[in-house]
This record gives sequence, C-alpha cells and structure tokens, in this order.
Amino acid sequence: MSDRIADKITTRVMSTYNRFPITLKKGKGSYVWGQDDQAYLDYTSGIATCNLGHVPTTVKAAVENQLNELWHCSNLYTIPSQEKLANQLVEHTVFDQVFFCNSGAEANEAAIKIARRYAQEINQSDKYEIVTFNQSFHGRTLATLSATGQTKIQAGFQPLMPGFRYLPYNDKDALADLIRPETCAVLLELVQGEGGVIPAGLTWVKEVVRLCKENNVLVIIDEIQTGMGRTGSLFAYEKYQIEPDVISVAKGLGSGFPIGAILAKNYVAEAFQPGSHGSTFGGNPVATTAGLETLRTMMDTDLLTEVEAKIAYLWSGLESLANKTSEIKEIRGKGFLIGIEVEGKAIDYVTKARENHQLLILVAGDHVIRILPPLTTTIEEIDRALCKLEALFEITSC
Ligand SMILES: *Cc1c(COP(=O)(O)O)cnc(C)c1O
Repeated sequence: MSDRIADKITTRVMSTYNRFPITLKKGKGSYVWGQDDQAYLDYTSGIATCNLGHVPTTVKAAVENQLNELWHCSNLYTIPSQEKLANQLVEHTVFDQVFFCNSGAEANEAAIKIARRYAQEINQSDKYEIVTFNQSFHGRTLATLSATGQTKIQAGFQPLMPGFRYLPYNDKDALADLIRPETCAVLLELVQGEGGVIPAGLTWVKEVVRLCKENNVLVIIDEIQTGMGRTGSLFAYEKYQIEPDVISVAKGLGSGFPIGAILAKNYVAEAFQPGSHGSTFGGNPVATTAGLETLRTMMDTDLLTEVEAKIAYLWSGLESLANKTSEIKEIRGKGFLIGIEVEGKAIDYVTKARENHQLLILVAGDHVIRILPPLTTTIEEIDRALCKLEALFEITSC
C-alpha cells in the first residue's frame, strides 16, 4: 500500500458504504439521538428493520431473559425458541416449515438452493433456472447478486453465477417468455424496495402465479423488505391474495437482531434433509427469541389493525403535499414502504431533511426518496413528519 493511500484512510472499516456524517448513540421508539444529543425522527427504521421502533420493550425483556440463560447452541440440539418461532410463523401464514439463517441474502440463498433441489431431487427433473426481474434486489452474496436484476450491483464480480434470467417487471407482454423448459422457479419482490419503490400490479402478479402453478414452477416471494407488517399485513402476499410456495424473510423479523428465514410449503420443504443445508448461527437462541417476541407483539396486539389507519393518514398527508409542489412527480409504494419520486436528486432532499429538519429518510435510486416509518409511529409523529416534509419542499416553515 502506498503511503499516500494510507494517509487518506480515516477508518479501518472497508468503505462499502457512503456513510452519513452523524453517529447515533441511542434510539427509542421513532426517535434516535446523535453523539451531540440531537434528536432525529427516524423514518428509516434501520432500512425496514426496526418495525416496532427502536428498543421495543417487549422484545428487550425477552432478549434480556434469554441472555441470562443461553447465548448459543448448535443446531445439533433442539432450540426451544427456534421451534416456537417456526410454529408461530406457520400459524400466521400459509406455509408449513421454516429454515432459519442470519440475513436476507442468506434467506434468498436458501430459497435458491431449495428451488433447485426441489426440481432435481423431488421432481427428478433437470430444471435449474430461476427467473428474476429488472431493478430487483435480492442481496450481496454471489448467488443473490446474480439473482439481482441490476448491473451496478454485479459490476466487477463476473463471472456471475449461472442459472438466472431477467425479465422486465410489471410487463404483461414479457410473460409470454416467463417459463422455459429449464425454469424451476420465479423469484420476485411484490414492491421492489432498493430498485425504486415500485409496486407490482395486482393482475400482473396473479398472471405470474397462474403461469407458474400451471407449469409446476415455484413462486418465491422475497418478503425481506415487504414483510413483518411493512405493507400493513404481516406479509405482502396477503394483500395480493396469492399463495407462494416459498417466501424469504429477514430485516423486520428480529427487530434489529440478525435473523433470516425461508418459509415453505411441505412439498418444497421436503427437498431439505439432514446434510443438505445448514448454518452455525441460524436459529440462534437470542435471535429467535427476538423474532418470537417481535411476531407476538405484532400478532397478539392491535398493532396491524391500527397501522392501517396510520398508513391511510400518512398517504393522504403525502398526497396533499404532492398537490402543493411541482417538485414531486409521483408517490408510490404500499403501506409504510413509500417512495416519493422527485425531479431533482433524492440524496439532496435526504441530506437537507437530516441537517435542517432532523428527519431521517432514505433514497431508493437517484430520484426516489424512500420513507419507512416504524409501524408503532403515532399520528402525532406523522403530523410532525408531514410538517418537516412541507418545510423540506419549502411549502411552509415547520
Ligand atoms: C435488504 C434486502 C435483501 C438483503 O438482505 P441482507 O440482510 O442485507 O442480506 C434482500 N432482498 C430484499 C428485498 C431486501 O430489501
């Protein structure tokens, strides 16, 4: 390494992220605090992860209990919290079995592996191809970046893993080429998150599912960003009234503890047998305790009923905001996964929101502002956020 490069290094952490110039030290509910005690209204939820807000009381108590008992236990032994979380996930969905891992990319890896193995071992076919869509995002491992339909994510990592084919999203005509003899599965997000907050059309999705069912091709829905209440129902597939064969879950599942999972129907789950897949940390006692309490908090309270009213309230506020400025071109998404397409650069709005209005929001591509409030946010906080956004778009001062 030349001294000149060494001089420039201010951190020993590899620079895989362009980091915002604030450091957060504390979070509670919808708020986070910087080193200088400055409070920010956090409408990023750690990128759709802290869906119950920061440090939710119920999850905290359960995790604290678990920390006093057992931190890690290999998957060679039964882990009670893992069993309970699997039971609860099955109870609240159309699926039968669960595999646990540690992240979203790993969940999609498991989904890709199980789809191939289902085709090859259960159906005794030589099918292997998985169809995904342009602008999709499925993760950063070699297989999941190969599944991702964005060249910027793939640049420099050639050769990609073979076995993926990409089609235009929401394109009815492209469906004529959806399934080829070698196709074993279709993998898609119901709202493309990283790709620009683009919701799939209802009839288009239904047609994709119909074609897959007709041809014994698996439907895998990536619910990593849309799941755990983000769109108003526990999972977005409920809103689309479809029954996937497999879904991948992560982000919101552990309220901030690293956990991922795939949920599958019995006939697919059968493809995994002892030795076919595994993970040292997957289903870890602390992470599954966090997951179990997160799910309980969502399902055993009125949270998901109440969130629909909050979603409607924020959307109507945003729509009237859009009517007051020509800078906003479109508001789209589903539930609390919202994209605001702007004329200018989205990052400039995000910077200004943080610096001038103490509101944390995200981008999703060059011209889309992404807003991901925690499901627990209050109407009062939504009013505050709307006020900050009005100031951001210079409609009123807040
Ligand atoms: C975040 C995300 C992933 C990747 O999850 P990681 O936990 O970062 O590996 C995959 N798919 C979607 C839709 C995501 O939003």
